[in-house]
Amino acid sequence: MGIDAVYTYDIAGLKSAISEHNSFVLTCHLNPDGDALGSTLGLRHVLRQMGKEATVITPDLPPTNLMWIPGAKGIRTYERDIEACDAIIDAADCIIMMDFNELTRLKQLGNKLSSSKKFTILVDHHLDPIVKCDVMISNPKASATAEIIFSCLRDMSFIDYIDVRAATCFYIGIMTDTGGLSYNSSDPNLYILIAELLKRGVDKDSVHDMIFNNKSLRRLRLMGYALNRKTMRIGDLPVSLMTLSREELDKYKYNTGDTEGFVNFPLQAKNIICSIFLMERPDGIKISLRSKGDFSVSEFAQHYYKGGGHFNASGATYHGTFDDACETVKRDMIEYCEGKLNKTQN
Ligand code: 5GP
Ligand code: MN
Repeated sequence: MGIDAVYTYDIAGLKSAISEHNSFVLTCHLNPDGDALGSTLGLRHVLRQMGKEATVITPDLPPTNLMWIPGAKGIRTYERDIEACDAIIDAADCIIMMDFNELTRLKQLGNKLSSSKKFTILVDHHLDPIVKCDVMISNPKASATAEIIFSCLRDMSFIDYIDVRAATCFYIGIMTDTGGLSYNSSDPNLYILIAELLKRGVDKDSVHDMIFNNKSLRRLRLMGYALNRKTMRIGDLPVSLMTLSREELDKYKYNTGDTEGFVNFPLQAKNIICSIFLMERPDGIKISLRSKGDFSVSEFAQHYYKGGGHFNASGATYHGTFDDACETVKRDMIEYCEGKLNKTQN
């Protein structure tokens, strides 16, 4: 990874926290993806199998194309129903935070959690977690938070509580965070975990079909438009920039989740090692970054926009007009690449 990653594995703390508490709230980051939903819902199934109360609260609505994940219908969404969610949080005795490394990634729900005095657990695989918590499980080398929680359940001897629903959720987390096991998934031990999940009855082919072949024609048209008309190379750098304004998204009747994965496509070009995607949202311009090899996009996101994520997959939010965002990101990337070139020449 090229950097010293924080690794914390307080498995004894996790085991006593799960054994001693009875009602849990599980939560994840804004714009929840397959891993955020897979790890929280999977652990929710396990806790319920253990006879505990457990509710998943997401900061905002999960994308509709992931609502088939086992247990997704029972998800509560903070920004939709603050009062009811506050009551659930107040009544719980333990909060489990999954798949994020700082509370700002939860918007309003983050404020609620930072003022809460509950026992808190963090399970995550992002770099440099800065969340205050009583028990921390952090492994930035893990493919997904779902991989970490599954290993923890095995190491705590809770593996028998993992039924087919929980196993399916964990498998979804692992396979979506690795692009269908195509990157960040070279550790042979990962496949031993996957074998354990499949033994529990996960229908792998149907999961892949639901994840990859479950798109609307409208979404495919938006993808065609974005690739054909809205993707350019920044100068002669090995970097592509894709942009979609509010107006363009409206024209294609954009639904949450429709642009998931768009940022990965330009990396299929052999001379592109970094792909940037800018999308206009009501709360700012969302910046998504992906890269190949030793090109760090987390450093870029963090340095220029106070964002973060993983070495090869990061994000941030730009506050300003859409046109400014496009120009600023281009300029910053040119400067960032110049810095990298100078470093390699010295
Ligand atoms: P995505 O582009 O899929 O939204 O995000 C890629 C990765 O970067 C994810 O791991 C996500 O958690 C992280 N990420 C996205 N936006 C932000 C941000 O604003 N701040 C931080 N710290 N991480 C982000
Ligand atoms: Mn993840």
